[in-house]
Amino acid sequence: MTTLHSNGRKTVGVLALQGDFREHREMLERMGHEVREVRKPAQLEGLDALIIPGGESTTIARLILSNGFQQPLRDFCDSGRPVWGTCAGAILLARNVDRLDRPGIEMMDISVRRNAFGRQVDSFEAALDVKGIEGEPFHAVFIRAPQIEEVRAPAEAIATLPDGTVVAAREGNLLATSFHPELTGDTRLHELFLTIGRNGHE
Ligand code: GLN
Repeated sequence: MTTLHSNGRKTVGVLALQGDFREHREMLERMGHEVREVRKPAQLEGLDALIIPGGESTTIARLILSNGFQQPLRDFCDSGRPVWGTCAGAILLARNVDRLDRPGIEMMDISVRRNAFGRQVDSFEAALDVKGIEGEPFHAVFIRAPQIEEVRAPAEAIATLPDGTVVAAREGNLLATSFHPELTGDTRLHELFLTIGRNGHE
């Protein structure tokens, strides 16, 4: 586990409307970062980066709209600071989603299908090669996960299952993963995430 020196310490927000925001917070704190649970749009101010956690995408979408978060989150994505959606968070970042009853944030040029692995494989694990991550494969945990069915430039796929299914994509300062890196001890994806900002927001 990496512990950063004070000069590498960032203030990272985790959207805390619903879902597994605590697990992200704990991992980021173990890495030496300051973490803010974000429940109101004003709390986005002053953050270096933002995570949209896993959970139930329909519930989080509803709470995004009812708390006036949609435009502030779009503006945050536009600001060049890193934004990462894990699982339900990836669904919310996608421009196209099947069966989401209201709009999410819709900022990444990807199409996502919810619960796409079917009932029999509600949850599974896989070893992934992720573009930008060195060393051994990344151990990925999938829980009622979405598939990234289409990735349109400038978005690019950065991890696939052996059958070619895309499970992670990046578009500039935006990152989407179908799986849950906050549930394992491996901090490499959280580290990568904090480097993907643009315009001096790395
Ligand atoms: N199945 C959930 C949804 O579609 C996502 C699951 C998760 O975030 N672990 O919202």
